[in-house]
Amino acid sequence: MPFAKRSLGQNFLQDPNTARRIVAALEIAPGDHVLEIGPGRGALTEWIVAAEPARVQALEKDRDLAQALPERWPVLEVLAGDALAHPWESIDSPSYKVVGNLPYNVASPLIWDFISRAGDYGRAVFMVQYEVARRLTAEPGSSDYGALTAWVRNFAATTLLFKVGPAVFRPKPKVDSGVVLFSPLADRPGQKAARALAGLLRACFQKRRKQLSNILKSQWENGIGQWFAEQGLSGTLRPENLSPRHFRDMAERFGDHFFT
Ligand code: SAM
Repeated sequence: MPFAKRSLGQNFLQDPNTARRIVAALEIAPGDHVLEIGPGRGALTEWIVAAEPARVQALEKDRDLAQALPERWPVLEVLAGDALAHPWESIDSPSYKVVGNLPYNVASPLIWDFISRAGDYGRAVFMVQYEVARRLTAEPGSSDYGALTAWVRNFAATTLLFKVGPAVFRPKPKVDSGVVLFSPLADRPGQKAARALAGLLRACFQKRRKQLSNILKSQWENGIGQWFAEQGLSGTLRPENLSPRHFRDMAERFGDHFFT
């Protein structure tokens, strides 16, 4: 077996029970189409194939691992490539389910892209660093709540399913992991609003300790101050106090002028 590549975030899951629980959370039905991100040596793949969905695809960047997978599971369609460059728009049906024990070094940008670009899908289940799992599932007002939280939650509802300790991986990571379920919202921002929302969130959370009237001061007199008053929100609030929906409403209302 070749050595694990740290540059590809390779921490291979050794515990069949954890793998089984992650795949069970996908609730695979016979007509489903499952896409696994980073199958590695197949810890999750084994359980996915055993559930007998209609189609299984596996997207793996490591060419050596990608080559070895179909020998073990001939039904597997292996896509040798980079998940950060995947055309997520091609996912377009509620029978699509996406799963992965994600490489920790790319998990946040990957989820950011997937969640906003994918069309319809049934559900997604990702294992990520526990700290990222907490950010993905944080409530407004908490220290874990940030740009990633407010972004993701405009596209999907998230649930932290369970925590996984380092002992079940080889090599062992230094930190805990968490498994998060994503269920797409019926009403998600369109492309233009999403661009504005991304810009707004970055502007706000880069200065998360400042008051919003200060962060947004160049636009405050151009309608945003008025909008805050209409919503019953004070300009002394900080970004972490606004809900994901507040950010979306602001991006949709003022995006054309300020954030694109
Ligand atoms: N699923 C396996 C498991 O649970 O043992 C492996 C998980 S390991 C944490 C992450 C996997 O993602 C590795 O197989 C790695 O080669 C692959 N990977 C890393 N970066 C990737 C990328 N940008 N696109 C696709 N796969 C990637």
